[in-house]
Amino acid sequence: MGQPRVPIEVDDANGTWSVDGIPMILVPRHFFVNNHTAIEAALGEQRYAQQLFEAGHKSAYVWCEKEARTHGLNGVEIFHHYMKRLSQRGWGQFQVEAVDIERGHARVRVDHSVFVLERKDAAPRKTCYMFRGWFPGSLEFVGTLLDKRLCLTSSEVQCAAEGQHDHCVFEVVPVSN
Ligand SMILES: [Zn+2]
Repeated sequence: MGQPRVPIEVDDANGTWSVDGIPMILVPRHFFVNNHTAIEAALGEQRYAQQLFEAGHKSAYVWCEKEARTHGLNGVEIFHHYMKRLSQRGWGQFQVEAVDIERGHARVRVDHSVFVLERKDAAPRKTCYMFRGWFPGSLEFVGTLLDKRLCLTSSEVQCAAEGQHDHCVFEVVPVSN
C-alpha cells in the first residue's frame, strides 16, 4: 500500500484539513456516493447532471486559479496538474489522452471511477456525469491565461459501468459544436 501523494495539512488549532492551502474534507466513499445517489433519485438524472455541471465547472475554474498561483503553473500544465491531483485524491485515475487549447478540444481517460466502483445496481449506464463540468472549467481557466475566451462542454462518451469497456472516456468540445 502506498501513502497519500497529496500534502495534507491539519490545523492543530481548529482541526481543519487542507491541501495546497485549500480546505478539504475526508469522507467515506460510500457516504459520498450514497448522497449522490439520493439526490439523483430526488431530482432525476438530467436535472441533477445539469446542476452538477455548473457547480463542478465553477469549482474547477476556481481551484485551477488558486493552484496556478500556489505552484506558479502556467498554460496547459495547470490542466495536467488538476488531472494528477484528482487521481491522487481517489476520484479515479485521470489520464489526458489529448488536449488542444486552440480548438477547445480534449479527451480524458478515467480508470477506476468512484461512481463505477461504488455503484449498487447492475443496470448498464453511464454513471460518471459528476466529472463533466470539471474539464471545461479547468480548460476555460487555462484559456484565460492564453487570452482565449473558451466556452466548453463535455460528455462521457463511454463508461466502464456500461459493461462493454474497462474504463471511462470524456470528450471536451466547444459549446457551439
Ligand atoms: Zn464512467
